[in-house]
Amino acid sequence: MCGIVGYVGRRQAAPILVDGLGRLEYRGYDSAGIAVQNGHGVEVRKLAGRVGALKVEVTRTPLIGTSGIAHTRWATHGAPTTRNAHPHVDCRERIAVVHNGIIENADALRAALERAGHRFRTDTDTETLAHLIEDAPGATLEERVAAAIAAVVGTYGLAVLSADDPGKVVVARQGSPVLLGIGDGEFFVASDAAAVLAHTRSVVYLDDGDLAVLTPDRYHVTDADAHVQLRDVSDIAWDLEAIELGGYPHFMLKEICEQRETVQSTLRGRLLFADGTARLNGLNLPPETCAGINRIVIVACGTSWHAGLVGRHLIEELARVPVVVEYASEYRYGRQPPRPGTLAIAISQSGETADTLEAMRAARAAGCRVVGIVNVVGSTIAREADGGIYLHAGPEIGVASTKAFTSQIAALGLLGLYLGRQRGLSLEAGRAFACRLAQLPALVGQALALEPEVVAIAETFATARNALYLGRGVNFPVALEGALKLKEISYLHAEGYPAAEMKHGPIALIDADMPVVFVAPRDEVYPKVLSNMQEVKARGGRIIAVTTDGAGTEGLNALADHRLCVPATAPLLSPVVTTVPLQLLAYHIAVRRGCDVDRPRSAPGGSGSVPQSAVGGEDRGRAGGSGHPPAPGGGGFQGRRSHPPAGRR
Ligand code: GLU
Repeated sequence: MCGIVGYVGRRQAAPILVDGLGRLEYRGYDSAGIAVQNGHGVEVRKLAGRVGALKVEVTRTPLIGTSGIAHTRWATHGAPTTRNAHPHVDCRERIAVVHNGIIENADALRAALERAGHRFRTDTDTETLAHLIEDAPGATLEERVAAAIAAVVGTYGLAVLSADDPGKVVVARQGSPVLLGIGDGEFFVASDAAAVLAHTRSVVYLDDGDLAVLTPDRYHVTDADAHVQLRDVSDIAWDLEAIELGGYPHFMLKEICEQRETVQSTLRGRLLFADGTARLNGLNLPPETCAGINRIVIVACGTSWHAGLVGRHLIEELARVPVVVEYASEYRYGRQPPRPGTLAIAISQSGETADTLEAMRAARAAGCRVVGIVNVVGSTIAREADGGIYLHAGPEIGVASTKAFTSQIAALGLLGLYLGRQRGLSLEAGRAFACRLAQLPALVGQALALEPEVVAIAETFATARNALYLGRGVNFPVALEGALKLKEISYLHAEGYPAAEMKHGPIALIDADMPVVFVAPRDEVYPKVLSNMQEVKARGGRIIAVTTDGAGTEGLNALADHRLCVPATAPLLSPVVTTVPLQLLAYHIAVRRGCDVDRPRSAPGGSGSVPQSAVGGEDRGRAGGSGHPPAPGGGGFQGRRSHPPAGRR
C-alpha cells in the first residue's frame, strides 16, 4: 500500500514531507514524489525507487515553499517508473495530485479528456484526476475538486495542490484511509498517523465522502452532501518508537517475536474466568441476538482468511453454529440471498482491506448483522461494522502478516467462547477453555524458543525450490499459512494441502528435493497424519514435523528428519502455537536466500489502493501491512455501548 503526506503551515514543507514519506515507506515503495507550492507555481520532484533517493534529490535541488504534498506509490495502473510516480499534474502544470486507490473508470475518463484536448503524460489512472480538476467548474480549488470527484468511480485518498490557491491543500477520501494532523498554525494530511507523529498527536480521521480544506490558519471538513462536519479530534497514544525496529534486523522478526505480548494484549481484560466466558465490550451482540444466529459467514483475504478457517473450527465446536469461510473477493461479487439469522464476520488486520470491506457491505445489504475483527482502531471496517473486536496487536509493519494472525485466532477464540456460552456451552467447559486461552501467551513464548533449531533447518532447506505443507483439521489452515509465508517472502514455491489430499495428486511431486512440512500436534487426527508421513517417507521425501512435546511421538520421531516440538494446548487453539515455528522457518529461509523480507516484491497493501485478492499480509493493510497502532477514541467499535443504526454511518 502506498502513502500520502501533505503539509500547510509556516515551515518549509519539503523536509517535513520527505521525512513523513520515510515513515510510510513500508506501505508502498516502488516510487516516491513530492510537489511544493513555491509562490508562483507548483514544483514537482519524483522518481522510481526509495524515499532516500528522493531526499537526496530534494537536498541537491531544494524545493522552497510552505505547502506541499507527497506520495509513495505501489503501482496499480502503469509500471513503477519515474514518469508514473506521483504527484501528477494537469496540462498547464498548475495542479498537482497524489492519490491512493484506483480510479475504476479511468479509461473512459481519459478518452473523454483526450478528446477534449488534454495531453496525458503517464499511464496512471491518477492522472485523470489532475485533468478533471483542471476542467472542473468552481471558484475555489475545493469546489473544483468536489466537481471533479463527482465524475469518478473508484477508491481514493487524495491530496491536491494548486498554483492558483497558495497555502492550501484539499483532501478527499473514498475507500482509502486519510487523516488530518492538527498542529499549531499548521496542518498535515496523511494516509497513516505514523507520518505526522513527529509533529502532532492530534488527528481527525476522515470518512468516505469527506472533503477537507487545509490552510495554515484553519481546516474544515465537509461530508458527501457538502455539509460542514465537526469531526472528533483523536489523541494518538502510541509512540514512533513502536514502529521502529527495536534492535531486530527486520520488522518481520520483531513482530514474530512480539507474539507472546501481542496475544496477551488481545486477551487482556477479556477473560471472565468465574463465568467461563469472554467480555467483548465492542462486540455489540446481546444475548438475544446470539441465540438467534443460525449461520455465520466469515469474509477475509490472505492470512486473515486462514485465521477465518481456524475460526470456523473454534466457533462450530464451541457455539454449535454452522460457519462458512469465504474469500472476500469472491463473496463481494456473488449474489447473496437474504438470510435472516446470519452473522457476518469480517477479518482484516488493517481494517481497510477493500475486498473485505466490500464483502462486509454486501453481507449487510443481504440483511446480515456484521462484526469486524481488526487491528487498526478507527479503521473503516471498525467504523462500519455493527460491532467487533480489536486485536490490540500494535502496528504490523512487516508486509508478511505474523502477529496479526495469532491475535486473530485468539480473538476468534474469545468470540467462540462468548457465543458458545450464550448458546449452551457449559460453565465448566467455558471455564476450561478460558484457562486454555489464558495460557497461550506463555506457550507462544516457548514456541519462540525454538528459533535456534529453526535456523538450523533453514540452513538445510534454503536451497530447495519447492515445499509442501500438510496439516489436518484445525491445523490445515496452519499448513496454508506456513506455505503462504514461505512463498511470499522467499519466492520459493510452496503449497499447503490437507494432509489426506496429498495422495490425490501432489504425492507425485515428492522426492528428496521436496521438503514436506507436517503440522502434526498430538490431537485426534495425529495417527492419520502419521500415516501420511509414512507415504512421504516411502517416496524419499524429507520431513520437517511441527509436533507436540512429550510422550507418544516415537512413531513420528522415526519418520521425521527434523522435529520442532511445541508445547501442548487445547487442540482447537494449537494453531496459535504451531504457526510460530513456521513463521520463523519462512523468515530464516528468506534471509538465507538474501530476500528483502520486510519489502517482498509485489507486496500487497491493505486498503483500496490495490487489488486485495493477492493480499498475503492481509490486509496488509495491509492492503496490507498497515501500521496504525491503536488510537484511543479513534472511533469504531471500541467501547461502543449500543447498537448503531444499520447502513453506513
Ligand atoms: N492507482 C494509482 C497508481 O497506480 C495509485 C496506486 C497507489 O495507491 O499507490 O498510480
